Amino acid sequence: MNQTISSIIPCPECKVKNRIKKFIPGKIPLCAKCGTRLVSEKENDTQVWFGKSLNDISGIPDPEYFGAHKKSK
Ligand SMILES: [Zn+2]
Repeated sequence: MNQTISSIIPCPECKVKNRIKKFIPGKIPLCAKCGTRLVSEKENDTQVWFGKSLNDISGIPDPEYFGAHKKSK
């Protein structure tokens, strides 16, 4: 369990995949190629919150496992 927390976000404009290591409050990550915003301000806030919460919930089982029998197609 030594995984680095990072997100791969494809640019909505040029489709280049950008690796976001860390989301910073008030700073929207931009595409490395064309400079387009990769997420909205609201999404950025969500990712910041999510990144913080990951530090707090390590050790809690992945909730997705509980939905294994859910029918979704
Ligand atoms: Zn781009």
